Amino acid sequence: MSIFTGPMRQHLDGKKELTAHEEVVVLETPEKVYIPLYQGNSTKFEVLVKEGDKVKVGTKVAYRNDNFIVPVFSSVSGTVGKVENVMSTTLKPLPHLVIVSDGLNETEKSFETIDYKTASREELVAFTKDAGIVGCGGAGFPTYVKYQFAKDCHTILINGVECEPYITADAAMMEKYTKELIIGTDAMIKMADAKAAIIAIKTTKVELIKKVREALAGYSNITVQEVPDVYPMGWERTVVYEVFKKRYDRLPGEVGVVVNNATTAISLAQAMLEGHGITHKMVTVSGEAVKTPRNVWVPVGTKVKEVVKALGGYTCEDVLCIAGGPMMGKAIINDEWVISASSNAVTVLETKPIDSVACLRCGQCSEHCPAGLQPVRIRQAEKAGDIETIKANDVNSCIECGMCTYICPSKLDVTESVRRAKRRVQLLK
Ligand code: SF4
Ligand code: SF4
Repeated sequence: MSIFTGPMRQHLDGKKELTAHEEVVVLETPEKVYIPLYQGNSTKFEVLVKEGDKVKVGTKVAYRNDNFIVPVFSSVSGTVGKVENVMSTTLKPLPHLVIVSDGLNETEKSFETIDYKTASREELVAFTKDAGIVGCGGAGFPTYVKYQFAKDCHTILINGVECEPYITADAAMMEKYTKELIIGTDAMIKMADAKAAIIAIKTTKVELIKKVREALAGYSNITVQEVPDVYPMGWERTVVYEVFKKRYDRLPGEVGVVVNNATTAISLAQAMLEGHGITHKMVTVSGEAVKTPRNVWVPVGTKVKEVVKALGGYTCEDVLCIAGGPMMGKAIINDEWVISASSNAVTVLETKPIDSVACLRCGQCSEHCPAGLQPVRIRQAEKAGDIETIKANDVNSCIECGMCTYICPSKLDVTESVRRAKRRVQLLK
């Protein structure tokens, strides 16, 4: 069943002007970094170093070892400390490898570079695996897996849409590393044995589109496609439909497409050209409750509180720190969590009491749900503990986009109710 049925035509107040035209802040190396030993819900990691070992920026320090193999690298030079439990974006403390920086930022190559034009498809997939490239748009899925199993793929779709309010990190990366964006995209075409690639960028990013198109001279197999500035256009299903007018059930491969985030393509190019994995991230730190909203270049493993401190701190006492954007991000109870290889944003908002009123039964949440659900019905069923109605309303198709809360005139947190309903159904399994 395809779940893409909603209108997808809601323009949001993007608030991107807070960071879009500002200089990128390069964060000073913190005294300690905490390299996450988790990805998604997996904590199966092998640590390759021991306490007291000396490492450099780029030293392979651990790898994920479950169904997927994903190496992780030190983001500073210094001395290995203990493995500590630190707050994570899963909302609970999880293991992180502490590395105490010596402040020197000595660097080593993590692996040999590769010329993607002469390498075989299989060599490129293996390279992507060894380089630890993961989805940089928030999900952190290992990139090589998409290509290992890609077949009958005609097009690579590079998602440079970045539809959530506040976030401009991908745009900043595409602006700064335009050449790498194209090289990474070209390599992905080869890895999937595809014919072409399309880079999707919101039509409002006029200067960026111009810059990427100019840089594409000589690449007849890659084009830029402008897409509307609406939410959630960056959702994989939405952007695939917008570009190809095709729907799929589970994966975009069903319609011959592999989708990657723009920063992921850039990270792959940097790995191929320079021989290092993802040790630093461009992160948008924005929102009304941070003193100086900016895009920040951050060593992976830096605590969020250090990043916010470098931007002048908070504007008020009661803040809500969100990993990601305000619509789909996760609110985390403190700022002790760290920037990971898949982080793209920290949104800091003032915690304000919300005066909600009873549901008006206006139906707007159902009208705007991109997954075609009836959030109001799910909310009512959740409140009543009515599992059968929750299941009958296909709650698992909710992508937690936040639209039903955003649109609700009664200021009800409808998304949270739907999330709770989803958890109720998951707990039944
Ligand atoms: S969060 Fe709300 S609007 Fe978004 S998919 Fe879920 S139910 Fe629909
Ligand atoms: S948008 Fe809010 S007020 Fe309107 S039906 Fe949905 S929950 Fe009720």
